Amino acid sequence: MSHKVDLLIIPEGYTEQQMEKFHNDCRTFLDYFFVMEPYSSRRDDFNIWAVDAPSAESGTDIPHENIWRNTILNSSFYTFYVDRYLTVTDHTLMADVASSAPFDAIIVLVNDKKYGGCGIYNSYALGISDNEYALQVFVHEFGHSFAGLADEYYTSEVAYTDFYDMNTEPWEPNITTMVDFGSKWQDMLDSTTPVPTPVNDSNCEVVGVYEGAGYNAKGIFRPFIDCRMKTNKAKGFCPVCVRAINRMIDYYCK
Ligand SMILES: [Zn+2]
Repeated sequence: MSHKVDLLIIPEGYTEQQMEKFHNDCRTFLDYFFVMEPYSSRRDDFNIWAVDAPSAESGTDIPHENIWRNTILNSSFYTFYVDRYLTVTDHTLMADVASSAPFDAIIVLVNDKKYGGCGIYNSYALGISDNEYALQVFVHEFGHSFAGLADEYYTSEVAYTDFYDMNTEPWEPNITTMVDFGSKWQDMLDSTTPVPTPVNDSNCEVVGVYEGAGYNAKGIFRPFIDCRMKTNKAKGFCPVCVRAINRMIDYYCK
């Protein structure tokens, strides 16, 4: 039991009367989580925990709609003035709740329907319960928090200029500036794959070096045309992200 990933799910914005909804939402999330690789193959390497920690009110803060809720973690949309950036900024509140169970990784399930979430490496992932993309967002955010995966997208309202230094290899395993590509997925490239790799239908399942990632259309590259770390439409994680997640599971289990 100790050689597993202890995954702790914390409810946010679920009232005492909504604990059954929390349990059902956990099941829905886990059913989705464990059908995709690498989690489907590694099901036995996880212990799942959930803490029944009720909030006084249902939902979460949405400041730009003047919605304020009294919730156990005091989460809020609009972090850094990005409307979909939903976070918990008071870590003592989180630590209080999390201390009731063992954990290696924390997921906060927010009882709301507005699109949003966040994932902070080695800290926690947070997602919403009732949005049409809730499950995809959750797994994407957990990719950030658990495996340190980068965003593979580059067109979005979350567009940072100069977020990455083009003269430095980024630390995340699934993007590269080609400064030190050997430390990334060079070993997974077929020798016939051109670099950079063109985006076309015949390359849909090909590990390559595709330009555009990490909030930049130029100079940063991703390993696959689409991936859970790029869009909500992707079928799952690309092979490079799958390997990175597997390595993190191994880190906790072996
Ligand atoms: Zn990926």
